[in-house]
Amino acid sequence: MADRKFIPFHVPSIGEEEIAEVAATLRSGWLTSGERTARFEREFQAYTGARHALAVNSCTAGLHLALAATDIGPGDEVITTPLTFCATVNTILHVGATPVLADVLPDGNIDPESIEERVTPRTRAIIPVHLGGLPCRMDAIWDIARRYNLRVIEDAAHATDARYRGMAPGAPSHSGRTSDAVAFSFYATKNITTGEGGMVTTNDPKLAERMRVLCLHGISKDAWNRYSEKGSWYYEVIEAGFKYNLSDVQSAIGIHQLEKIERFHALRTAYVGVYNRRLSEIEEVETPPGCSYGRHAWHLYELRLNLDRLAIDRDRFIDELRSRGIGTSVHFIPIPLHPFFRKWAHLKQNACPRAMALYSRMISLPLYPSLTMDQIQFVTDSIKEIAAQHARRQIVAAGM
Ligand SMILES: *Cc1c(COP(=O)(O)O)cnc(C)c1O
Repeated sequence: MADRKFIPFHVPSIGEEEIAEVAATLRSGWLTSGERTARFEREFQAYTGARHALAVNSCTAGLHLALAATDIGPGDEVITTPLTFCATVNTILHVGATPVLADVLPDGNIDPESIEERVTPRTRAIIPVHLGGLPCRMDAIWDIARRYNLRVIEDAAHATDARYRGMAPGAPSHSGRTSDAVAFSFYATKNITTGEGGMVTTNDPKLAERMRVLCLHGISKDAWNRYSEKGSWYYEVIEAGFKYNLSDVQSAIGIHQLEKIERFHALRTAYVGVYNRRLSEIEEVETPPGCSYGRHAWHLYELRLNLDRLAIDRDRFIDELRSRGIGTSVHFIPIPLHPFFRKWAHLKQNACPRAMALYSRMISLPLYPSLTMDQIQFVTDSIKEIAAQHARRQIVAAGM
């Protein structure tokens, strides 16, 4: 259809509230981390139920701070999943530790059994990733962490609005167990956005304080106090920190995005229902698994192709969608396939055949609040048409 507009893989939902708050911030004379960032932290802390929330300029920064503040470093091993963004693994390398990959479950999340197989005397931490917004099996992961005395740092880049047994990532669980820290992303494509930004939460006051110091150059007091009426010119650097604070301009966006998070979630969940209903009739594809033990954040709708029923592969399927004006993505190119990680990721102890198999059949479809029913219908009709055109013909062998 030539007159149909391209359906992008993602469109952020920014309203007049965000725009007005940014304009007010620019006019206020205070641009860096100040009152709006403090408010965003308080409201995020209240939303998740975590005891401490620290606004940072990315999820990557949050992961790095959590690893640095728990003193993970050279000689230590950190277990994570191959189906993640490179940032998860890069931050492990930035603190000088060695990433170890565990294989995934059929749902795409890290497999607790595979984690346990990879534990060595050098293992210090586990970084589970809630892929696409589906919460990981945290009870099993916390069990392993307790048995082997490991830290747990959650990469909740996709999962701000997920719930695990009723609790948001970062909140103390009913069983009283929690992860040491949880990092969230407000990158442009995530469930809520500040353009670039993130948050790291913890329930440990000492860890919260250490991350706050490391977040701003290792300065023992923050600059906001320094320049406020009550503040003083004096400060002390107590360790070599980073420059990871979130500005008030970005927090201005975040405050209003957070107010809308449940509405955004409800819309995406409704669209998932429509996708599931329409796509479950097509034998050449499989709909993504839901969540029986919590709430799926539905950051991604990861369709799976039944490759044995198709005469084309995933890449060709994506090309076909693109030629019809539909933007898609793949989450993720497994870590061992990137040239930089290849050297160690191909070691036998990092083998992840299930992640590789899943990768070859997954396509992330458009899923965001401003999608229309007409667009969703066009996407599902197109998938149906491509599947029908390229279905592997059943070979009926004569005389057998
Ligand atoms: C987006 C993403 C990150 C990085 O988030 P930033 O805020 O861009 O640093 C980390 N992990 C996963 C799984 C992601 O999808």
